[in-house]
Amino acid sequence: MEYPGNLFVVAAPSGAGKSSLVKALMELDSRVQPSVSHTTRAPRGQEVHGREYYFVSQDTFDQMVLQGGFVEWAQVHGNRYGTSKQALEQRIKQGADVILEIDYQGAIQVKRIFPNAVLVFILPPSWEELRSRLERRAEDSADVIEVRLQNAANEMAHAKEFDFVIINELFERALFDLKAIVHAQRLKYAAQRNARSDTFRALNIT
Ligand code: 5GP
Repeated sequence: MEYPGNLFVVAAPSGAGKSSLVKALMELDSRVQPSVSHTTRAPRGQEVHGREYYFVSQDTFDQMVLQGGFVEWAQVHGNRYGTSKQALEQRIKQGADVILEIDYQGAIQVKRIFPNAVLVFILPPSWEELRSRLERRAEDSADVIEVRLQNAANEMAHAKEFDFVIINELFERALFDLKAIVHAQRLKYAAQRNARSDTFRALNIT
């Protein structure tokens, strides 16, 4: 199914810089909108219900799963996360470009439901750099960092299932790459025909 809007899905091991890249993209390009996921994990720091996530109980999450309320959901680092159906399809149908920042399991589920979704995997430039970014972030204990590094090996093994790969060595370069992917989607035939229908009509192109 071709929708006028695009669905971008970005995954990465923790510490690769996914959130910063997506945030910077949205600041530069107001047509790209985030989707707020549901999670069973507790809020951290300044996080606000409805902004970073909808923080819900295990029971509420279970109910949503049973009612088919999620496009995808997965267990990540011991907590559950899901993208609710509500609004997602509607927004893409209405022409919005939506970006999901989710884990690789969710990304692969989304691709099955929305085959036109564009899957982008962000890789760190090396193991050393990934470790030092996790340590510099100072958000997690040494044990948690070790678990995250072990998980990263499994997560990165799935990069080959994605459409695009960005190596986040230099932030500005990686942002340029992400913008290029978004831009290229908007130049696809169906997208141009929709966005520039007057031009297509004037040129007698269907
Ligand atoms: P955090 O708890 O650090 O915010 O997120 C942990 C991981 O869960 C990240 O890799 C994040 O992208 C992923 N995640 C966040 N929301 C969703 C979601 O709706 N679905 C899936 N599958 N993963 C998510």
